[in-house]
Amino acid sequence: MCGIIGYVGEKQALPILIEGLRRMEYRGYDSAGIALFGPNGLQYEKYAGKIARLEEHLVGKNYTGTWGIAHTRWATHGEPNDNNAHPHLDCTGEIALVHNGIIENYATLHEWLQRRGHKITTDTDTEILVHLIEDSYDGDLVEATRVALSQVEGTYGIAVVSRNNPGLIVVARHGSPLVIGRGNGENFVASDVAALLRHTNQVIYLDDLEMAAITQDKTDISKIDRTVVNRDSEEIEWSLEQIERGGHAHFMQKEIHEQPTTIVNAMRGRLNLDEATARLNGIKRHLDELGQIDRIIITACGTSWHAALIGEYMIEDLARIPVEVEYASEFRYRSPIIDPGTAVFVISQSGETADTLAAMREAKRKGATVLGICNVVGSTIARETDGGVYIHAGPEIGVASTKAFTSQITVLSLIALLLGRMRSMSFLYLGR
Ligand code: GLU
Repeated sequence: MCGIIGYVGEKQALPILIEGLRRMEYRGYDSAGIALFGPNGLQYEKYAGKIARLEEHLVGKNYTGTWGIAHTRWATHGEPNDNNAHPHLDCTGEIALVHNGIIENYATLHEWLQRRGHKITTDTDTEILVHLIEDSYDGDLVEATRVALSQVEGTYGIAVVSRNNPGLIVVARHGSPLVIGRGNGENFVASDVAALLRHTNQVIYLDDLEMAAITQDKTDISKIDRTVVNRDSEEIEWSLEQIERGGHAHFMQKEIHEQPTTIVNAMRGRLNLDEATARLNGIKRHLDELGQIDRIIITACGTSWHAALIGEYMIEDLARIPVEVEYASEFRYRSPIIDPGTAVFVISQSGETADTLAAMREAKRKGATVLGICNVVGSTIARETDGGVYIHAGPEIGVASTKAFTSQITVLSLIALLLGRMRSMSFLYLGR
């Protein structure tokens, strides 16, 4: 996992970028770096190791500037060392780029760029991106980024800045989340909404193959193929307090203690006591279809997959519908049978789990109605599924899932109850 944060506005960018990196530290990383533009031109630093090491190197260097980008790296190509850390620069040192993801065809592009005289100085797959942009750059950073990305295969969330385009951050995403934060006279970008919460709760999630030109007043979104995208910002309901440890030794401990509240939150307003059933607005539109199905597939990864196994028992017990639980990374690579009587549920805390996203898209491609169970409002799974149920657990920062797991099970029990009632199960056999 890795992190991107970018800022453009009136304030000094450095403290905002460093704080943003710290907010994403929980995701794990091996290096950290920053690129800042200001009166002193482009200033950048990048180091293997902790953010504290980056900060040590910033002491006494007059880093002023109101516009910049920063990154925490989790190396996939090239060992974690200072040179391979992001940002990466083009040959002229005027364009800087940070990247989350993997460029699959980097070796071919590397060779091509070298033939064209580019000097590639790191072992990463990422560096070729900034040279590709340089290769077609004629003053229009958005256009050059578009051209570069149209040659690339793989996954990316990127943020790019150029000395010649003051106050502009170009961002793009394919398979690696990016969210724009909208402020007053300032704008932000991050790979994780937690990095933005201190500054704004107005966010716009980018979809795959979308890019944006972010200035202090504007966030112009388009598809990489140039189609204009109009998307309003949405409000994040999470508070800053929710992403702080609040006196606990670590986030996992805090989240374990939150469970009495989060389980209630997962059920709040969802029990119809008069009819002894569940009321789930997010799947209401699909109740007719769900009344017809004779099979359910639940697909997920990791802890969510374990929640799915419990969901299987509950749904089969209460609704008598056969359920298969599939590991999302397997599901996407085999040829699952999905007929009109099959409903597919996908479960992911973040709503961004790459394998689960791919499984969801595969199920949709095969014509299934796909319903999501996730935590992060507005996440890719929440947006791309046909409907779904939020677990409302609040931000889960601890890497080992705790409260999200129990909330997923709570929601699955509500789904089992609803499906059972729809099928007029009397539940008299319960406990037999
Ligand atoms: N593939 C890139 C690298 O190894 C980016 C890794 C990341 O997502 O942090 O540098």
